[in-house]
Amino acid sequence: MAERLFGTNGVRGVVNEEMTVQMAMEVGQAIGTFMTGKVALATDSRTSADMLRCAVSAGLMASGAEVLDLGMLPTPALQYYVKNSGVKGGVMITASHNPPEFNGIKCVDHDGTEMPRNKEEQIEKFYFTKTFAHKTWRSVGSIRPVNGVGQSYAGAVKRQVDFAIIQDAKMTVVMDCANGAGSVTSPWLLDQLGVRAITLNANPQGTFPGHESEPTPEHLKDLVATVKATGADLGVAHDGDADRTIFVDDKGTYLYGDKSLALVASYIVKEAGGGKVVTPVSTSSCVEDVVKKAGGEIIYTKVGSPIVARKMMEVGAIFGGEENGGLIFPEHQYCRDGAMTMAKVIEIVAKEGKLSKLMAQVPSYALDKRKLDCRNDIKEEVLEDLVVRFQDRRTDTTDGVKVFFDNGWALVRPSGTEPIFRVYSEGMTKDAAKKIGDTCEKELREAIAEAMARK
Ligand code: MG
Repeated sequence: MAERLFGTNGVRGVVNEEMTVQMAMEVGQAIGTFMTGKVALATDSRTSADMLRCAVSAGLMASGAEVLDLGMLPTPALQYYVKNSGVKGGVMITASHNPPEFNGIKCVDHDGTEMPRNKEEQIEKFYFTKTFAHKTWRSVGSIRPVNGVGQSYAGAVKRQVDFAIIQDAKMTVVMDCANGAGSVTSPWLLDQLGVRAITLNANPQGTFPGHESEPTPEHLKDLVATVKATGADLGVAHDGDADRTIFVDDKGTYLYGDKSLALVASYIVKEAGGGKVVTPVSTSSCVEDVVKKAGGEIIYTKVGSPIVARKMMEVGAIFGGEENGGLIFPEHQYCRDGAMTMAKVIEIVAKEGKLSKLMAQVPSYALDKRKLDCRNDIKEEVLEDLVVRFQDRRTDTTDGVKVFFDNGWALVRPSGTEPIFRVYSEGMTKDAAKKIGDTCEKELREAIAEAMARK
């Protein structure tokens, strides 16, 4: 297997340890060699944003690229700009939801989508072989700032929702920006939508003093408390680069991303009178349930938002997304979009009533998660063995093995980065999910032991 530079979320590491200026500059050279021409660049709010922006830009210019520096922006705002400006591609400097000491570099394709794997491989080849476009002093690139991209992006989001209904509803929303890139666009968007916004951690600050940027229940305690204290209609939180959004309902209940994914999917299918919704095989059945009930069709993919986005294009889906709060609205753009997700849920609440009431209509399933150690070199044969072991049941091998039981399902999936298998099981009750998990763990243990014995 070729050496990899880009993981599922780009290149990431601790700043000045793995993620150094030297590395960032060479990644910039490799990207510039691949993209040849105008390249848009943006950062999130981390302390290392300026350092890495300069290093990546220097690399890009050394290979002849013309850098358009958009400043600090959410990842989807950069993607929106790339899609609409005719540049060759984009570079986002972010580590999304990771702790503040991390940073990363992620590429955006010319159409604004996340870079597909085959193109990343070409950039990786340039990087590892140090084959960079060599420019003379006459032909090195330049850099210039581009202002106002955040406003035009937020304006585009506003045009995608029913503004009149939102404005009439006179809603109050508590917005937690996690001191991240969403701070520069989302509070402004709420204002433009005629929503009264109460903001938390809405100043970009690279040390993330409010809380870490993954929108988990532990990190959103202040948001929950503020929604309760103010009697707001809902609470909203982005991750560090604002491509994902998590909600808190009017009663102060934290809503996991599968619930909001199901709510929006159901609403969009109902509005369209049918249509295809794309989501990874790991997504809770609550999404399939509501999509089918609304007269739509669900299509499952491997795990990973670029895969979901590409499948959506291929099948002409009306909606798609992941259960981590990364929702994709094709009429806006084919990538996860935090502000768009926020605006759409506000529209739904404005039109259909309280979020707690709407959520009560989404089925609830219990989830069980576990992991087992497994050497990377036997993962493939363990998977094949599992399919045989479960041959009497319905299985789906889109990504790992998904096994269907009478009262739930399990997904047994090898990690792409660690020597482990993950087992996710879902059931009508906690007990059912655990039993399914136990059954799968037993088979997986045996399959691993047998594969090891053959080595
Ligand atoms: Mg993110």
